[in-house]
Amino acid sequence: MSLALSEKAQGVKPSSTLAITAKAKDLRAQGIDVVAFVAGEPDFNTPENISMAAIAAIRDGFTKYTPAAGTLELKRAVSEKLAKFNHLDYSPEQIVISNGGKHSLTNAITVITNPGDEFLIPAPYWLSYPEMVKLSGGVPVSVKTKKENGYKVTVDELEAACTERTKALILNTPCNPTGSIYSEDELRAIADFIVRKDIYVIADEMYEYLVYGGNKHVSIASFGEEIYKRTITCSGLSKSYAMTGWRIGYAASPLVIAKLMGSVQSHQASNPNSIAQKAAYEALTGNQDTIMTMVREFEKRSVFLYNEICKLPFVDCIKPEGAFYAFVDCSALIGKKYRGEEITGAGDIGRILIEDYNVAVIPCDDFGIQNHIRLSYAISMEQIEKGVSRIAEFLNALS
Ligand code: GLU
Repeated sequence: MSLALSEKAQGVKPSSTLAITAKAKDLRAQGIDVVAFVAGEPDFNTPENISMAAIAAIRDGFTKYTPAAGTLELKRAVSEKLAKFNHLDYSPEQIVISNGGKHSLTNAITVITNPGDEFLIPAPYWLSYPEMVKLSGGVPVSVKTKKENGYKVTVDELEAACTERTKALILNTPCNPTGSIYSEDELRAIADFIVRKDIYVIADEMYEYLVYGGNKHVSIASFGEEIYKRTITCSGLSKSYAMTGWRIGYAASPLVIAKLMGSVQSHQASNPNSIAQKAAYEALTGNQDTIMTMVREFEKRSVFLYNEICKLPFVDCIKPEGAFYAFVDCSALIGKKYRGEEITGAGDIGRILIEDYNVAVIPCDDFGIQNHIRLSYAISMEQIEKGVSRIAEFLNALS
């Protein structure tokens, strides 16, 4: 007999991006003028045609269970989108609609993991990957990348981290938190590595539409049969269609994997929300102009924020190419003094910025890297301007 709690659950850290975001929203609700460079959440409203489709779904009584892996209508729409945009050939049966990007990744990790299987995770990484792997009984293996390489992992780095127990690589392009994008050549080299080692790649392509400055998103599974067989392609509607709260994601994979993901999901979650599925169908098949309008705006903000950060003392930032994050190296701040207090890490920077300057940022310690912060520019230009000038004030107060 024992009231002991799950070691796995206790071994997981709560998401700090969500915690800091909640704190910033709370302060704003109290009337405090906080600039929130926090979660990657578009500040745009969900486009009207998408919301109207949801309202119609409610009115039409589309409010009952759907097949656990999603409606055929929506899986067809995803299949067509994957063919057109990603040059990937997945039939609707190979697609599982889920409750958001995290759910798709969790499904994917769950169905390929046996106890002790190792997952290569290029660092810096999105903080949820290692926790998802641990919850599945796998072992996250952080693979350090280099700044001069845009924090993108190379085959040599992967090779050095690979062991007999390696099961998969988690690859994110465009990347959260760095904003980097893997080129086609880089992806081809990684695909060769995956095939040679005979392991899986979980391709997290959540930011696929958010690509700037002539960069291009390429899906690793598109390089031929061998890599296709080993890839689980994950994406969702949250970022591209400003649908974070609707919770619709999807994964596309070889049929045997899709069936397993559908089966797991049928026990853990039943179907994704029926109304949100109707909205997602409209998002994928309706007018796409609003995506382009948002992407153009994010690109403008990205250029502006990057140029402003370049003017700041002590910090350094690689040029963002995609997603909506600026990844700021604060190593030169470590050891400096702020009102007599020594700065020891990104946590101190985040705390001082929110407490004394009303600016919320994401310290990246949980992203597998020290002394960096992430700024989301999914906020208005006016907010960005205000936030950067407050950060400048803080930096100028250092000695
Ligand atoms: N993925 C987004 C981010 O990194 C949303 C928050 C989260 O789920 O971590 O900001």
